[in-house]
Amino acid sequence: MDMSNGTDPRMDLLMTILDDTELQVIANFYARRYWYGVIVVIGLTALLNMAVRLRSRSRMRSAAASRVKQATPPRCCGRMLDAITSAFRKLIYPQISPTRHSNLLKVPPLGIIVLLFIYLAFVLTLEFVNQDIPGDQHRQAIGVRAGWLTITQLPLLILLSGKVNIIGLITGVGYERLNVLHRWVARTMLLTATLHMGYQQALWNSLGLLQLEWNTDTCPPTGIKAYAFLLWLNLSTLAPIRNLWYEFFVIQHILTFFGLIICIMLHLPSTALFSRIYVWIPIGIYLFERTLRTLRYAYNNLRPGRATLIQLNGGVTKVIVSTRQLKNWSPGSFVLLSLPRFGLGQSHPATVASIPSSHEGKLVFILRAHRGFTSRIHANESTISLHGGSASSESPQDSKSTHLVLIDGPYGGTQLDFASYNSVLLIAGSTGVTFTLPVLLDLAWRAEKQKPAVKHVTFIWAVKTSACTSWIDSELKHAGGELQKAGIELGVRIFVTADEEFAEVDEGKPSSAEACHCEKGNEECSCISPFPKLPPDTKSNPLAEQVKTQERTNEAVEETPRLELPYYASRCSVTTIQSGRPDLKGIIKEAQGKADGEIGVAVCGPVELTAETRRVVAGLEGKGGSIYLHAESFGW
Ligand SMILES: Cc1cc2nc3c(=O)[nH]c(=O)nc-3n(C[C@H](O)[C@H](O)[C@H](O)COP(=O)(O)OP(=O)(O)OC[C@H]3O[C@@H](n4cnc5c(N)ncnc54)[C@H](O)[C@@H]3O)c2cc1C
Repeated sequence: MDMSNGTDPRMDLLMTILDDTELQVIANFYARRYWYGVIVVIGLTALLNMAVRLRSRSRMRSAAASRVKQATPPRCCGRMLDAITSAFRKLIYPQISPTRHSNLLKVPPLGIIVLLFIYLAFVLTLEFVNQDIPGDQHRQAIGVRAGWLTITQLPLLILLSGKVNIIGLITGVGYERLNVLHRWVARTMLLTATLHMGYQQALWNSLGLLQLEWNTDTCPPTGIKAYAFLLWLNLSTLAPIRNLWYEFFVIQHILTFFGLIICIMLHLPSTALFSRIYVWIPIGIYLFERTLRTLRYAYNNLRPGRATLIQLNGGVTKVIVSTRQLKNWSPGSFVLLSLPRFGLGQSHPATVASIPSSHEGKLVFILRAHRGFTSRIHANESTISLHGGSASSESPQDSKSTHLVLIDGPYGGTQLDFASYNSVLLIAGSTGVTFTLPVLLDLAWRAEKQKPAVKHVTFIWAVKTSACTSWIDSELKHAGGELQKAGIELGVRIFVTADEEFAEVDEGKPSSAEACHCEKGNEECSCISPFPKLPPDTKSNPLAEQVKTQERTNEAVEETPRLELPYYASRCSVTTIQSGRPDLKGIIKEAQGKADGEIGVAVCGPVELTAETRRVVAGLEGKGGSIYLHAESFGW
């Protein structure tokens, strides 16, 4: 601040108002209280995470020792723990979000909304509590504290943004799930920055000191620049802008953030230089996270993998990556996948549909073609076309038909071990199956070796056309076989939601006994509900027409689909294909009824499906076996 004009009475008044000797001590006191609150919440979440993991492990141990006491909670905690868990789940699970244009507006689940309101209330309490400075400096005090509360949130903003995430590590929540909190912390910072600026500007204006302050102090001009950067950071993360051009969004986001940091550093008053600690800490966290991530990225791509691309039905590409570096990931994890030939500098999140012990250790992805990278890999001439057939991991591997692939990750994945639940329900919509399939494969792989607690597995998959079932038929067959050997019941129910062939069949029509194929001497049946008999009459069945048309029009078809049950059906206890949408309430209720204890539900797909599952689970929670839900949708 320029002190040269100290004899001017207006300047004296301004100096008195700006004197922050006492204000900064009080403001810093509340800035520290903010961190105590944040640490308590992170600590409690970490403890909760540890408790549920221990419970899950103890279930697995008792299941391995004897299969009698499986999904029952430890005696000491008993009913009270169940009641608390149940009430908590009822509160946090529900989600009401617009189902149309979900890429433009997505309302988070109730649990997140409650958390965000608590956060906002906490920050506003810290802002306005004990604001008892009298006189003209009262509004200055409110403004100064708002400034401190803005920068004290900066370390949390960065902690929530990193991909190698410390908060994620201790709380067991993946960085992609923390992203919504990252955005809302930024919005709260914008709110407190607005209070900081608004209260002071209004005060100076009311005393006729506004012009003088702007002319003599460097704080207002640097502050307004920092505010502009913060405002743009918030506006550009709104889904409609963010989704316009994702790569551009990422680059400008990082550059804007650097701009914000520089302006904040210049803005912080020389009278309270120690406040810069709230800027140095996030810079340190950012550099640390970047270093770790770069090291891991370098390791992953030391000997880069090669990707084989296979075009499947329904505008989907199967990407099979052979890499010697990445050998460990948990079911449901995703990586940032980069195929430089199809988008230099681009990396796209893709869920690994395989597990380390399947597909000869290769990473398998199933990617729906959108407008950019995903459509380029789908349409490329080197992409093998297997419409109607089954793509296996033994696809050609010569360098002409394979592509250099760079991998960042893995990230995310299931939080708890689904093998520790008595009954497991896996629900997927379309490519959401990339999340539920590895969970199923993991259960199947461990079924024999570890004697998991799980006894029933139901695999629900909603697809647009019946042809989509070819994406994962060999995997389902394999999983069915392994689970059957271990005495675990697997039911596969496929719902064809918009298949012309099924258009005249009642939506959600239950499978009929007539449509089931039962082996002699074996009680297990495989069913296709819309068809009265199996094998179907090829003359009258519309599916036969589809096959004929395919034969005529698609020279690339390698294997003519036969009119019979998908071949994994013979290995599953019950397999049904039916038209319409799944009746989630009925399905989850049925699983609850079968289970001897808690059930585990995983859902992945469009917001419509995940939000409905959330609501149904919240409604059924406590009315039978307790339900653990893991909901995943491809976006943040
Ligand atoms: C955790 C996660 C896992 C996913 N797993 C799968 C999967 O297994 N199978 C699948 O088909 N899809 C998956 N997706 C979605 C997939 O990443 C996008 O569809 C893909 O990046 C679109 O690329 P594009 O260039 O063709 O997109 P565009 O047509 O340009 O855009 C389509 C949408 O994808 C978003 N998008 C584009 N590039 C990126 C990027 N680099 N990072 C994040 N979002 C981006 C855009 O904002 C837009 O909303 C996943 C997404 C996430 C967040």
